[in-house]
Amino acid sequence: MSNITINQLHMALCEANSILLTVHIRPDGDAIGSMLAFYEALIAQGKTVHMVVDDVIPEKFSFLKYIDYIHDVSYLETNAISVDMLMVLDASTYERIGRVGALCSAPIFNIDHHISNTKFADYLYLKSNFAATGEIITYLCKEWNWPITESMGTALYMAIATDCGFFKFSNTTAHTLEMASYCVAAGARPNVVSETIEAISADRLELTKQVMQTIGFYKHNTVATIELCPAVMAILGDDTDGFVDIIRNVDTVDIAILLKGESPNRTRISLRSKGTDVNAIAQQFGGGGHIRAAGCTIMKNIEEAKSELLEAIG
Ligand code: AMP
Ligand code: MN
Ligand code: MN
Repeated sequence: MSNITINQLHMALCEANSILLTVHIRPDGDAIGSMLAFYEALIAQGKTVHMVVDDVIPEKFSFLKYIDYIHDVSYLETNAISVDMLMVLDASTYERIGRVGALCSAPIFNIDHHISNTKFADYLYLKSNFAATGEIITYLCKEWNWPITESMGTALYMAIATDCGFFKFSNTTAHTLEMASYCVAAGARPNVVSETIEAISADRLELTKQVMQTIGFYKHNTVATIELCPAVMAILGDDTDGFVDIIRNVDTVDIAILLKGESPNRTRISLRSKGTDVNAIAQQFGGGGHIRAAGCTIMKNIEEAKSELLEAIG
């Protein structure tokens, strides 16, 4: 692995004729928005570009241009695709790109912003002080004078906004806002992105009423938990955005924990904090992320996973 500079990244992209783009499994707004915008930018540079993700693409992203161009991983199994570069966006570990890694033999480049990045790529461009990979892509386009179209601006604005809680979280910097400003100048409409991404159905709000019964407080109300049992997870699919925000906004709460019961012996965890290093806590369970937003999976049921986490928090 070697860390590369912006100029080395530029040179490598200039030299590559064909590029396979991918992002982490359970793709979020940052992953999808960054990939769609980078796809459009690379096409404009005359490259042959493929997008492959080893997971389903959430329906809420369907308003974005080129979303239908994203292939399932079977695309690599049924087509003989040979590229000069595998470009991994917003993924911090090799495992998080699923089967794409094994199905592509090209040198791996990684553009990412996770402090927990395991340096798995051959060439890494890491900006851990950036709020989103979308902030990096916007920055690269500006530095290289690559035009940001309206559709790129919309995708990048969504990428940036979703990773910093629409500019509320502590990862929001002047640079984050500056990059978002470029996106809006390019034609992104903040209200449209927000309304589209944050829209929920009446059924979902009904379900939220039930889920709120599971809220618990620990350690003098500095830690709060909220639980999605396997039955609720089956209804929600992977669309669990927003639940952790219900508890993170409580004034006394430092650490907010969302427990997602995938099965009776597998619980996925989302951690958010206002001060504590939750990346360090997630790493104790084989996960990672950022200082104030991280995740991990514990091979236990929700109750047991919760006790282990509370013990790890100390
Ligand atoms: P989430 O709670 O899923 O929104 O994730 C919060 C942050 O932690 C994101 O930046 C994720 O990329 C990261 N993250 C979540 N789960 C894991 C994991 N198992 N391993 C490494 N990073 C993770
Ligand atoms: Mn992401
Ligand atoms: Mn991200």
